[in-house]
Amino acid sequence: MKVLKFGGTSVGSAQRMKGVAELICKEKGNLVVLSAMSGTTNALLEIASYLRNGNPEGATDASRRLEKKYLSHITELYSTKEMQGSAREFIKSTFAFICSLGKEVFGSAEEKALVAQGELMSSRMLADYLIEKGVKAVLLQAPDFLRKDSQGEPDQQYLKEKLPQILKAHKEAEVFITQGFICLGADGRPDNLGRGGSDYSASLFGAAIGASEILIWTDIDGMHNNDPRVVEGTRPVRHLHFEEAAELGYFGAKILHPTCVLPAKFANIPVRLLNTMDPSAQGTVINNESDPGTIKAVAAKDNITAISIKSSRMLLAHGFLRKVFEIFESYKTPIDMITTSEVGVSMSIDDTTQLKGIVQDLRRYGSVSVDSDMCIICVVGDMDWENVGFESRAMDAMRDIPVRMVSYGGSNWNISFLIREEDKERALKSLSKCLFNDAQG
Ligand code: ADP
Ligand code: ASP
Ligand code: MG
Repeated sequence: MKVLKFGGTSVGSAQRMKGVAELICKEKGNLVVLSAMSGTTNALLEIASYLRNGNPEGATDASRRLEKKYLSHITELYSTKEMQGSAREFIKSTFAFICSLGKEVFGSAEEKALVAQGELMSSRMLADYLIEKGVKAVLLQAPDFLRKDSQGEPDQQYLKEKLPQILKAHKEAEVFITQGFICLGADGRPDNLGRGGSDYSASLFGAAIGASEILIWTDIDGMHNNDPRVVEGTRPVRHLHFEEAAELGYFGAKILHPTCVLPAKFANIPVRLLNTMDPSAQGTVINNESDPGTIKAVAAKDNITAISIKSSRMLLAHGFLRKVFEIFESYKTPIDMITTSEVGVSMSIDDTTQLKGIVQDLRRYGSVSVDSDMCIICVVGDMDWENVGFESRAMDAMRDIPVRMVSYGGSNWNISFLIREEDKERALKSLSKCLFNDAQG
Protein backbone atom coordinates (compact mmCIF):
# COMPACT_ATOMS: atom_id res chain seq x y z
CA MET A 1 0.00 0.00 0.00
CA LYS A 2 1.20 3.52 -0.80
CA VAL A 3 0.34 6.85 0.80
CA LEU A 4 -0.41 9.63 -1.69
CA LYS A 5 -0.59 13.18 -0.33
CA PHE A 6 -2.00 15.96 -2.49
CA GLY A 7 -1.25 19.56 -1.40
CA GLY A 8 -3.54 22.58 -1.60
CA THR A 9 -2.65 23.57 -5.17
CA SER A 10 -3.16 19.99 -6.37
CA VAL A 11 -6.79 20.14 -5.23
CA GLY A 12 -7.18 23.92 -5.73
CA SER A 13 -10.16 23.77 -8.12
CA ALA A 14 -12.84 21.36 -9.32
CA GLN A 15 -10.74 20.76 -12.44
CA ARG A 16 -7.66 19.91 -10.39
CA MET A 17 -9.68 17.56 -8.18
CA LYS A 18 -10.77 15.68 -11.28
CA GLY A 19 -7.12 15.38 -12.31
CA VAL A 20 -6.24 14.05 -8.85
CA ALA A 21 -9.06 11.49 -9.09
CA GLU A 22 -7.61 10.27 -12.38
CA LEU A 23 -4.17 9.87 -10.83
CA ILE A 24 -5.59 8.01 -7.85
CA CYS A 25 -7.49 5.58 -10.07
CA LYS A 26 -4.33 4.56 -11.95
CA GLU A 27 -3.45 2.27 -9.06
CA LYS A 28 -6.04 0.93 -6.63
CA GLY A 29 -5.69 0.13 -2.93
CA ASN A 30 -3.83 3.17 -1.65
CA LEU A 31 -4.38 5.71 1.14
CA VAL A 32 -4.87 9.28 -0.10
CA VAL A 33 -4.18 12.23 2.23
CA LEU A 34 -5.54 15.63 1.27
CA SER A 35 -4.81 19.24 2.18
CA ALA A 36 -7.49 21.90 2.09
CA MET A 37 -8.05 23.55 -1.32
CA SER A 38 -5.39 26.27 -1.75
CA GLY A 39 -6.27 29.55 -0.01
CA THR A 40 -8.85 27.88 2.24
CA THR A 41 -6.75 27.55 5.41
CA ASN A 42 -5.73 31.21 5.12
CA ALA A 43 -9.38 32.23 4.58
CA LEU A 44 -10.48 30.18 7.62
CA LEU A 45 -7.77 31.74 9.75
CA GLU A 46 -8.96 35.16 8.60
CA ILE A 47 -12.49 34.30 9.75
CA ALA A 48 -11.01 33.13 13.07
CA SER A 49 -9.17 36.38 13.54
CA TYR A 50 -12.39 38.38 13.01
CA LEU A 51 -14.10 36.23 15.64
CA ARG A 52 -11.20 36.51 18.07
CA ASN A 53 -11.25 40.29 17.71
CA GLY A 54 -15.00 40.54 18.33
CA ASN A 55 -15.98 41.36 14.73
CA PRO A 56 -18.73 38.83 13.87
CA GLU A 57 -19.86 40.88 10.83
CA GLY A 58 -16.36 40.63 9.32
CA ALA A 59 -16.43 36.88 9.98
CA THR A 60 -19.87 36.45 8.38
CA ASP A 61 -18.78 38.40 5.27
CA ALA A 62 -15.60 36.38 4.83
CA SER A 63 -17.48 33.15 5.50
CA ARG A 64 -20.15 33.99 2.87
CA ARG A 65 -17.46 34.71 0.28
CA LEU A 66 -15.80 31.37 0.92
CA GLU A 67 -19.11 29.47 0.94
CA LYS A 68 -19.96 30.96 -2.45
CA LYS A 69 -16.68 29.70 -3.86
CA TYR A 70 -17.32 26.20 -2.55
CA LEU A 71 -20.85 26.14 -3.93
CA SER A 72 -19.51 26.96 -7.37
CA HIS A 73 -16.79 24.27 -7.07
CA ILE A 74 -19.54 21.78 -6.38
CA THR A 75 -21.60 22.69 -9.42
CA GLU A 76 -18.49 22.17 -11.52
CA LEU A 77 -17.35 18.98 -9.82
CA TYR A 78 -20.42 16.74 -9.86
CA SER A 79 -22.52 15.76 -12.84
CA THR A 80 -25.55 14.20 -11.15
CA LYS A 81 -28.26 16.27 -9.50
CA GLU A 82 -28.28 13.89 -6.48
CA MET A 83 -24.59 14.34 -5.73
CA GLN A 84 -24.79 18.10 -6.33
CA GLY A 85 -27.71 18.29 -3.91
CA SER A 86 -26.08 16.31 -1.13
CA ALA A 87 -22.74 18.16 -1.56
CA ARG A 88 -24.62 21.48 -1.39
CA GLU A 89 -26.22 20.36 1.90
CA PHE A 90 -22.82 19.37 3.25
CA ILE A 91 -21.20 22.72 2.33
CA LYS A 92 -24.14 24.67 3.77
CA SER A 93 -24.02 22.79 7.06
CA THR A 94 -20.23 23.26 7.23
CA PHE A 95 -20.62 27.02 6.88
CA ALA A 96 -23.54 27.09 9.32
CA PHE A 97 -21.19 25.37 11.80
CA ILE A 98 -18.46 27.95 11.06
CA CYS A 99 -20.88 30.81 11.74
CA SER A 100 -22.16 29.14 14.93
CA LEU A 101 -18.63 29.09 16.34
CA GLY A 102 -18.63 32.85 16.78
CA LYS A 103 -21.78 32.92 18.85
CA GLU A 104 -20.20 32.02 22.20
CA VAL A 105 -16.62 32.00 23.49
CA PHE A 106 -14.04 31.90 20.76
CA GLY A 107 -10.75 30.43 21.99
CA SER A 108 -8.04 28.22 20.59
CA ALA A 109 -10.25 25.07 20.61
CA GLU A 110 -12.93 26.84 18.52
CA GLU A 111 -10.26 28.18 16.17
CA LYS A 112 -8.90 24.65 15.63
CA ALA A 113 -12.39 23.28 15.00
CA LEU A 114 -12.87 26.06 12.46
CA VAL A 115 -9.60 25.62 10.58
CA ALA A 116 -10.18 21.83 10.36
CA GLN A 117 -13.12 22.48 8.01
CA GLY A 118 -10.79 23.04 5.03
CA GLU A 119 -9.45 19.47 5.02
CA LEU A 120 -12.87 18.09 6.00
CA MET A 121 -14.43 19.72 2.93
CA SER A 122 -11.75 18.80 0.37
CA SER A 123 -11.64 15.14 1.47
CA ARG A 124 -15.41 14.74 1.40
CA MET A 125 -15.65 16.45 -2.00
CA LEU A 126 -13.05 14.16 -3.57
CA ALA A 127 -14.46 11.00 -1.97
CA ASP A 128 -17.94 11.86 -3.27
CA TYR A 129 -16.55 12.60 -6.73
CA LEU A 130 -14.90 9.17 -6.84
CA ILE A 131 -18.10 7.52 -5.62
CA GLU A 132 -20.06 9.34 -8.32
CA LYS A 133 -17.61 7.89 -10.85
CA GLY A 134 -18.34 4.40 -9.52
CA VAL A 135 -15.09 3.99 -7.55
CA LYS A 136 -15.39 2.29 -4.16
CA ALA A 137 -13.84 5.17 -2.18
CA VAL A 138 -13.97 5.11 1.62
CA LEU A 139 -13.66 8.41 3.49
CA LEU A 140 -11.80 8.10 6.80
CA GLN A 141 -11.81 10.79 9.48
CA ALA A 142 -8.18 11.42 10.51
CA PRO A 143 -9.12 12.43 14.10
CA ASP A 144 -10.37 8.82 14.58
CA PHE A 145 -6.77 7.58 14.45
CA LEU A 146 -4.46 10.59 14.79
CA ARG A 147 -4.30 12.19 18.21
CA LYS A 148 -1.63 13.92 20.27
CA ASP A 149 -0.08 12.64 23.50
CA SER A 150 0.37 14.66 26.68
CA GLN A 151 3.61 16.16 25.24
CA GLY A 152 1.66 17.56 22.30
CA GLU A 153 3.30 15.08 19.90
CA PRO A 154 1.43 12.71 17.55
CA ASP A 155 0.72 9.45 19.39
CA GLN A 156 2.39 7.05 16.98
CA GLN A 157 1.66 3.94 19.05
CA TYR A 158 -2.07 4.67 18.99
CA LEU A 159 -1.93 5.42 15.26
CA LYS A 160 -0.10 2.15 14.58
CA GLU A 161 -2.84 0.20 16.35
CA LYS A 162 -5.84 2.14 15.08
CA LEU A 163 -5.16 2.89 11.42
CA PRO A 164 -4.46 -0.68 10.22
CA GLN A 165 -7.57 -1.86 12.11
CA ILE A 166 -9.73 0.73 10.36
CA LEU A 167 -8.26 -0.08 6.95
CA LYS A 168 -8.84 -3.81 7.48
CA ALA A 169 -12.48 -3.20 8.37
CA HIS A 170 -13.15 -1.95 4.81
CA LYS A 171 -12.40 -4.95 2.63
CA GLU A 172 -14.52 -3.45 -0.17
CA ALA A 173 -12.44 -0.27 -0.48
CA GLU A 174 -10.63 0.47 -3.73
CA VAL A 175 -9.18 3.65 -2.30
CA PHE A 176 -9.12 5.36 1.09
CA ILE A 177 -9.37 9.13 1.37
CA THR A 178 -8.48 11.04 4.54
CA GLN A 179 -7.42 14.46 5.77
CA GLY A 180 -3.89 15.71 6.38
CA PHE A 181 -3.11 18.33 9.04
CA ILE A 182 -6.03 17.62 11.40
CA CYS A 183 -6.07 15.45 14.52
CA LEU A 184 -7.33 15.42 18.10
CA GLY A 185 -5.46 17.02 20.98
CA ALA A 186 -4.64 15.05 24.15
CA ASP A 187 -7.82 16.59 25.62
CA GLY A 188 -9.92 15.00 22.86
CA ARG A 189 -10.72 18.32 21.18
CA PRO A 190 -9.92 19.25 17.57
CA ASP A 191 -6.26 20.04 16.99
CA ASN A 192 -3.80 20.13 14.10
CA LEU A 193 -0.13 19.57 13.22
CA GLY A 194 0.63 23.20 12.35
CA ARG A 195 0.78 25.02 9.00
CA GLY A 196 1.91 22.82 6.15
CA GLY A 197 1.35 19.79 8.42
CA SER A 198 -0.34 17.55 5.83
CA ASP A 199 3.10 16.32 4.72
CA TYR A 200 3.70 15.24 8.32
CA SER A 201 0.33 13.41 8.43
CA ALA A 202 1.23 11.51 5.25
CA SER A 203 4.57 10.43 6.67
CA LEU A 204 3.02 9.37 10.00
CA PHE A 205 0.33 7.36 8.22
CA GLY A 206 2.90 5.78 5.91
CA ALA A 207 5.05 4.69 8.87
CA ALA A 208 2.00 3.39 10.78
CA ILE A 209 0.90 1.06 7.97
CA GLY A 210 4.40 0.18 6.70
CA ALA A 211 3.65 1.74 3.30
CA SER A 212 5.90 0.83 0.38
CA GLU A 213 6.22 4.52 -0.59
CA ILE A 214 4.99 7.95 0.44
CA LEU A 215 4.20 10.14 -2.57
CA ILE A 216 3.95 13.89 -1.95
CA TRP A 217 2.17 15.40 -4.95
CA THR A 218 2.60 19.15 -5.34
CA ASP A 219 2.77 21.87 -8.00
CA ILE A 220 6.43 21.57 -8.98
CA ASP A 221 8.73 18.84 -10.31
CA GLY A 222 10.38 17.87 -7.00
CA MET A 223 12.80 19.67 -4.71
CA HIS A 224 14.79 22.27 -6.65
CA ASN A 225 18.42 23.15 -6.03
CA ASN A 226 17.46 26.70 -5.00
CA ASP A 227 14.30 28.61 -4.13
CA PRO A 228 12.31 28.91 -7.42
CA ARG A 229 10.38 31.85 -5.93
CA VAL A 230 13.59 33.88 -5.71
CA VAL A 231 16.03 32.49 -8.25
CA GLU A 232 15.42 31.86 -11.94
CA GLY A 233 16.55 28.68 -13.70
CA THR A 234 16.58 26.39 -10.66
CA ARG A 235 16.73 22.66 -11.40
CA PRO A 236 15.13 19.65 -9.72
CA VAL A 237 17.33 17.52 -7.48
CA ARG A 238 16.63 13.89 -8.32
CA HIS A 239 17.80 12.31 -5.08
CA LEU A 240 18.11 13.45 -1.47
CA HIS A 241 19.08 11.72 1.76
CA PHE A 242 16.42 12.08 4.48
CA GLU A 243 18.81 14.33 6.45
CA GLU A 244 19.30 16.60 3.44
CA ALA A 245 15.54 16.85 2.91
CA ALA A 246 15.00 17.66 6.60
CA GLU A 247 17.62 20.44 6.52
CA LEU A 248 16.10 21.89 3.34
CA GLY A 249 12.55 21.75 4.72
CA TYR A 250 13.60 23.35 7.97
CA PHE A 251 15.60 26.08 6.28
CA GLY A 252 12.82 27.29 4.06
CA ALA A 253 12.34 24.97 1.09
CA LYS A 254 8.58 25.08 1.46
CA ILE A 255 7.93 22.04 -0.68
CA LEU A 256 8.45 19.59 2.18
CA HIS A 257 7.54 20.18 5.82
CA PRO A 258 10.64 19.36 7.93
CA THR A 259 8.75 17.15 10.42
CA CYS A 260 7.58 14.97 7.53
CA VAL A 261 10.97 13.36 7.22
CA LEU A 262 11.41 11.61 10.59
CA PRO A 263 8.62 8.97 10.60
CA ALA A 264 9.48 7.93 7.03
CA LYS A 265 13.20 7.87 7.79
CA PHE A 266 12.84 5.65 10.87
CA ALA A 267 10.47 3.30 9.05
CA ASN A 268 12.85 3.40 6.04
CA ILE A 269 10.04 4.24 3.63
CA PRO A 270 11.11 6.23 0.55
CA VAL A 271 9.37 9.57 0.00
CA ARG A 272 8.85 10.73 -3.58
CA LEU A 273 8.03 14.37 -4.45
CA LEU A 274 5.94 14.47 -7.62
CA ASN A 275 4.24 17.07 -9.78
CA THR A 276 0.45 16.89 -10.18
CA MET A 277 0.64 19.20 -13.20
CA ASP A 278 3.10 16.86 -14.93
CA PRO A 279 2.65 13.38 -13.42
CA SER A 280 5.21 11.74 -15.69
CA ALA A 281 8.02 14.05 -14.53
CA GLN A 282 10.73 12.32 -12.53
CA GLY A 283 10.42 14.32 -9.28
CA THR A 284 12.70 13.75 -6.28
CA VAL A 285 13.28 10.55 -4.34
CA ILE A 286 14.21 10.82 -0.66
CA ASN A 287 15.65 7.78 1.16
CA ASN A 288 18.46 6.71 3.49
CA GLU A 289 21.11 6.62 0.75
CA SER A 290 23.71 9.35 0.29
CA ASP A 291 25.60 10.68 -2.72
CA PRO A 292 29.19 11.13 -1.60
CA GLY A 293 30.80 14.43 -2.52
CA THR A 294 27.74 16.20 -3.92
CA ILE A 295 26.24 19.56 -2.99
CA LYS A 296 22.51 19.25 -3.52
CA ALA A 297 20.68 22.49 -2.84
CA VAL A 298 20.45 25.85 -1.12
CA ALA A 299 17.59 27.19 0.99
CA ALA A 300 16.90 30.33 3.02
CA LYS A 301 14.96 31.00 6.18
CA ASP A 302 13.76 34.56 6.84
CA ASN A 303 12.79 36.53 9.95
CA ILE A 304 15.80 35.47 11.95
CA THR A 305 17.17 37.44 14.91
CA ALA A 306 20.79 37.20 16.03
CA ILE A 307 21.72 37.63 19.69
CA SER A 308 25.33 37.98 20.83
CA ILE A 309 26.65 37.96 24.36
CA LYS A 310 30.23 38.99 25.15
CA SER A 311 31.84 38.40 28.49
CA SER A 312 35.46 38.78 29.54
CA ARG A 313 34.62 36.43 32.38
CA MET A 314 33.78 33.72 29.91
CA LEU A 315 37.44 33.13 29.22
CA LEU A 316 38.08 29.64 30.53
CA ALA A 317 34.90 29.76 32.63
CA HIS A 318 33.14 26.43 32.61
CA GLY A 319 29.38 26.53 32.98
CA PHE A 320 28.99 29.77 30.98
CA LEU A 321 27.30 28.12 28.00
CA ARG A 322 24.98 26.20 30.32
CA LYS A 323 23.81 29.46 31.91
CA VAL A 324 23.21 31.01 28.49
CA PHE A 325 21.26 28.00 27.17
CA GLU A 326 19.19 27.75 30.36
CA ILE A 327 17.88 31.24 29.70
CA PHE A 328 16.62 30.21 26.25
CA GLU A 329 15.21 27.03 27.73
CA SER A 330 13.34 28.91 30.46
CA TYR A 331 11.67 31.03 27.74
CA LYS A 332 10.94 27.90 25.63
CA THR A 333 12.77 29.52 22.71
CA PRO A 334 14.76 27.20 20.42
CA ILE A 335 18.13 28.30 19.07
CA ASP A 336 18.74 27.72 15.34
CA MET A 337 22.41 28.54 14.87
CA ILE A 338 25.25 29.03 17.32
CA THR A 339 28.86 30.16 17.02
CA THR A 340 31.37 30.74 19.80
CA SER A 341 34.69 32.46 20.39
CA GLU A 342 36.81 32.74 23.50
CA VAL A 343 34.97 35.88 24.61
CA GLY A 344 31.48 35.53 23.26
CA VAL A 345 28.62 33.50 21.85
CA SER A 346 26.27 34.36 18.97
CA MET A 347 22.95 32.61 18.55
CA SER A 348 20.05 32.94 16.16
CA ILE A 349 16.36 32.47 16.89
CA ASP A 350 13.21 32.76 14.77
CA ASP A 351 10.64 33.01 17.56
CA THR A 352 11.03 36.46 19.09
CA THR A 353 7.97 36.47 21.36
CA GLN A 354 10.20 36.20 24.45
CA LEU A 355 13.09 38.31 23.11
CA LYS A 356 12.81 41.06 25.75
CA GLY A 357 12.99 38.65 28.69
CA ILE A 358 15.84 36.68 27.09
CA VAL A 359 17.93 39.82 26.52
CA GLN A 360 17.26 41.08 30.06
CA ASP A 361 18.36 37.78 31.60
CA LEU A 362 21.43 37.46 29.36
CA ARG A 363 22.59 40.92 30.49
CA ARG A 364 23.39 39.42 33.91
CA TYR A 365 26.33 37.63 32.27
CA GLY A 366 27.75 40.09 29.76
CA SER A 367 27.03 42.76 27.16
CA VAL A 368 24.29 41.80 24.72
CA SER A 369 23.58 42.92 21.15
CA VAL A 370 20.64 42.06 18.90
CA ASP A 371 20.34 42.17 15.08
CA SER A 372 16.92 41.59 13.56
CA ASP A 373 15.75 41.09 9.92
CA MET A 374 18.40 38.49 9.32
CA CYS A 375 18.24 35.35 7.21
CA ILE A 376 19.87 31.92 7.39
CA ILE A 377 21.24 30.60 4.12
CA CYS A 378 21.78 26.89 4.25
CA VAL A 379 23.86 24.89 1.75
CA VAL A 380 22.94 21.20 1.85
CA GLY A 381 24.78 18.15 0.60
CA ASP A 382 27.50 15.74 1.57
CA MET A 383 29.51 18.02 3.86
CA ASP A 384 31.58 15.36 5.56
CA TRP A 385 34.53 17.19 7.16
CA GLU A 386 37.06 15.02 5.37
CA ASN A 387 35.81 16.12 1.97
CA VAL A 388 37.84 19.08 0.80
CA GLY A 389 36.82 22.16 -1.14
CA PHE A 390 33.06 22.30 -0.57
CA GLU A 391 33.13 24.81 2.30
CA SER A 392 35.51 27.05 0.41
CA ARG A 393 33.26 27.04 -2.70
CA ALA A 394 30.27 28.05 -0.58
CA MET A 395 32.36 30.67 1.25
CA ASP A 396 33.66 32.01 -2.04
CA ALA A 397 30.10 32.52 -3.29
CA MET A 398 29.49 34.74 -0.26
CA ARG A 399 32.60 36.88 -0.81
CA ASP A 400 30.70 40.15 -1.49
CA ILE A 401 28.07 39.61 1.18
CA PRO A 402 28.42 40.68 4.84
CA VAL A 403 28.20 37.44 6.86
CA ARG A 404 27.23 37.72 10.53
CA MET A 405 27.72 34.03 11.49
CA VAL A 406 28.94 30.81 9.85
CA SER A 407 28.05 27.34 11.12
CA TYR A 408 29.83 24.24 9.85
CA GLY A 409 30.48 20.84 11.39
CA GLY A 410 27.24 20.54 13.37
CA SER A 411 26.15 17.80 11.02
CA ASN A 412 27.60 16.14 7.95
CA TRP A 413 24.94 17.71 5.79
CA ASN A 414 25.16 21.47 5.83
CA ILE A 415 27.00 24.74 6.10
CA SER A 416 24.91 27.76 7.10
CA PHE A 417 25.44 31.49 6.89
CA LEU A 418 23.59 34.21 8.76
CA ILE A 419 23.25 37.33 6.62
CA ARG A 420 20.96 40.36 6.34
CA GLU A 421 17.58 39.60 4.83
CA GLU A 422 18.15 42.35 2.26
CA ASP A 423 21.16 40.40 0.94
CA LYS A 424 19.23 37.13 0.56
CA GLU A 425 18.46 37.31 -3.14
CA ARG A 426 22.03 38.27 -4.00
CA ALA A 427 23.38 35.42 -1.87
CA LEU A 428 21.05 32.79 -3.34
CA LYS A 429 21.89 33.85 -6.90
CA SER A 430 25.60 33.85 -6.25
CA LEU A 431 25.42 30.40 -4.65
CA SER A 432 23.50 29.07 -7.69
CA LYS A 433 26.21 30.37 -9.96
CA CYS A 434 29.16 29.15 -7.91
CA LEU A 435 27.82 25.77 -6.76
CA PHE A 436 25.60 24.60 -9.61
CA ASN A 437 26.92 26.67 -12.52
CA ASP A 438 23.41 28.03 -12.99
CA ALA A 439 23.77 31.40 -14.72
CA GLN A 440 22.62 34.03 -12.24
CA GLY A 441 23.54 37.69 -12.26
P1 ADP B 1 1.55 22.10 -1.31
O1 ADP B 1 0.39 23.04 -1.31
O2 ADP B 1 1.47 21.04 -2.36
O3 ADP B 1 1.89 21.56 0.06
P2 ADP B 1 3.58 24.09 -1.06
O4 ADP B 1 3.01 25.40 -1.52
O5 ADP B 1 3.64 23.82 0.41
O6 ADP B 1 2.80 22.93 -1.80
O7 ADP B 1 5.04 23.89 -1.65
C1 ADP B 1 5.31 23.96 -3.05
C2 ADP B 1 6.03 25.25 -3.36
O8 ADP B 1 7.25 25.30 -2.64
C3 ADP B 1 6.47 25.36 -4.79
O9 ADP B 1 5.45 25.87 -5.62
C4 ADP B 1 7.67 26.29 -4.71
O10 ADP B 1 7.32 27.62 -5.03
C5 ADP B 1 8.06 26.29 -3.23
N1 ADP B 1 9.47 25.99 -3.01
C6 ADP B 1 10.29 26.66 -2.16
N2 ADP B 1 11.53 26.18 -2.17
C7 ADP B 1 11.52 25.15 -3.05
C8 ADP B 1 12.52 24.24 -3.53
N3 ADP B 1 13.78 24.25 -3.07
N4 ADP B 1 12.14 23.33 -4.45
C9 ADP B 1 10.87 23.28 -4.92
N5 ADP B 1 9.90 24.10 -4.51
C10 ADP B 1 10.22 25.03 -3.59
N1 ASP C 1 -4.07 23.22 5.00
C1 ASP C 1 -2.97 23.34 5.93
C2 ASP C 1 -2.17 24.60 5.62
O1 ASP C 1 -2.50 25.30 4.67
C3 ASP C 1 -2.10 22.14 5.95
C4 ASP C 1 -1.39 21.80 4.65
O2 ASP C 1 -1.84 22.19 3.58
O3 ASP C 1 -0.38 21.10 4.71
O4 ASP C 1 -1.27 24.92 6.34
MG1 MG D 1 3.05 22.27 1.78
